[in-house]
Amino acid sequence: MDSISQYCEGAEHRCCARHLYSNFTLAHKGLVLKNLFWTAARATTVPEWKSAMNELKDISEEAYNWFFEKPPSQWTRSRFEEHSRCDILLNNLCEAFNSSIVVARDRPIISMLEKIWHQQMIRKNVKREAAQRWDHAFGPRIVKIIENATSEARYLKALYVGNHKFEISSRDDLRWSVDLTKHACACRKWQFTGIPCPHAISGMLSRDIGIYEYIDPWYMKETYLKCYSPVIHSMSGPELWPELGKHSLNQP
Ligand SMILES: [Zn+2]
Repeated sequence: MDSISQYCEGAEHRCCARHLYSNFTLAHKGLVLKNLFWTAARATTVPEWKSAMNELKDISEEAYNWFFEKPPSQWTRSRFEEHSRCDILLNNLCEAFNSSIVVARDRPIISMLEKIWHQQMIRKNVKREAAQRWDHAFGPRIVKIIENATSEARYLKALYVGNHKFEISSRDDLRWSVDLTKHACACRKWQFTGIPCPHAISGMLSRDIGIYEYIDPWYMKETYLKCYSPVIHSMSGPELWPELGKHSLNQP
């Protein structure tokens, strides 16, 4: 924590909630506490987070106190900043990369780098070719999220109040305010991901507004292809390399 604030001044610092939970569960076991931990971590608004924490406190004061030294900004979405358009709670991204280089990690440094380079050369092309086959302007995972959110949105009631703003209500009388211009909903899910939440979609459906125009460009096929466009070039084996007359590397 100290290093991040020292060397990456101003950067938002999150902990992996799954690792945090592993630590928590050493002293505080049970399914009820587990569910409350995850409800608190996934809560996107402070009131939702507070209500989960209060429930947790009712069950175990000791478990509740365990969180005293854990800044909420590092493990619950309700305190995450919105600018990064990223709602991840876990560091699966690093874990996945780490597990993909297990074989390479055991090798000496040059062979390790060669192995990783080779892996990335193949991966980049696989990703690029797969994305070229997408028949939508957005990635299939994003399209699926929108489809699910659209089904959820059909259970909501939208009231247009002018200036691209809506009041959305659910059957159990919860209410959210949506502002299309700001790409924002009171639930904050849209702000975290850049993908409209069911509330925002409910408003859009009520006025026949195109949903896809309101998704952040980060999820577009065009953007994805841009990421994967640089080619990592292939390389012939060392027996075909030119002789430079230098002595070979000795072992350290
Ligand atoms: Zn919402």
